[in-house]
Amino acid sequence: MIIDGKKIAADIQAEIARQVDQISGRKPSLAFILVGDNPASQSYIRGKKKACAETGITSVVHEFPASIAEGDLILQIQRLNIDPLTDGILVQLPLPPHISERIVTQTIDPDKDVDGFHPVNVGKMLLGDPGGFLPCTPNGIRALLERSRIPVEGKHVAIVGRSNIVGKPLAAILMQKKAGCNATVTVAHSKSEGLKQILHSADILVAAMGSPLFIKKEMVKPGAAVIDVGINRMPNGKLVGDVDFDEVSKVAGWITPVPGGVGPMTIAMLMQNTLESYWKRT
Ligand code: NDP
Repeated sequence: MIIDGKKIAADIQAEIARQVDQISGRKPSLAFILVGDNPASQSYIRGKKKACAETGITSVVHEFPASIAEGDLILQIQRLNIDPLTDGILVQLPLPPHISERIVTQTIDPDKDVDGFHPVNVGKMLLGDPGGFLPCTPNGIRALLERSRIPVEGKHVAIVGRSNIVGKPLAAILMQKKAGCNATVTVAHSKSEGLKQILHSADILVAAMGSPLFIKKEMVKPGAAVIDVGINRMPNGKLVGDVDFDEVSKVAGWITPVPGGVGPMTIAMLMQNTLESYWKRT
């Protein structure tokens, strides 16, 4: 069965839009910070702005030249931190090499960190403290599994990739002692031995590697759920995931397409975090 991430994300956004519509007075507001003119970053911001417009969330894009000094960017973030009309702050990554992503991420007020990358929110996620923001892509994968009624509890989830934005937080979320989680998680990476055997024993396989079409059908247990996080642009301009969809879809029980799988869920979770932030401060 193909998991329609686009439809599930649209359903979530429609639920958010209904809630926002009922708010009289100031609506939730999300501030984007875009540094430089990276076309991919501009395209990501366009997608997120569109989702804001569809859900009724106010969006403001603050654009700065690639030459902006780190100190000046920090001042801009501090200004947004104390702005009572801003509920969420998102700095679009990557930043130019002279600006530290670590310092910038840590400058954002954790209570406005709707990306969930601030160490305070990462810590709350690891502790299972519901008071923080969960990062959007892994939380979107959790929501995708939940809404597709794919059993997670007690199942073996194998994640390929250990990045701070996908693999590591997804492992932290799915191993939580709570409904919809309680999974047995294996996190594999480029140094893992016996990758094929690890993956073949997984009930849920999550590919988050950035390696086009790497996952083949021999690596997948028949009937498993296969979640493809990868977004890779091929020389012919086509977007493909980390999973060889054509062959893996023949053995998988469930599979996400690229595009139209995890990507839209990431944006839906960003809208959800922004609305949550609004409720917390009003
Ligand atoms: P990173 O490059 O930060 O991490 C990739 C991970 O995959 C690393 O842990 C790396 O191992 C592992 N890896 C790479 N090749 C192999 C291999 N052959 N065997 C085993 N492990 C391997 O990537 P991100 O997590 O940032 O992104 C992963 C993919 O997901 C990208 O295609 C990205 O575009 C996409 N993405 C999609 C999002 C969405 O919304 N759909 C959001 C974020 C990312 P090691 O640590 O040892 O180097």
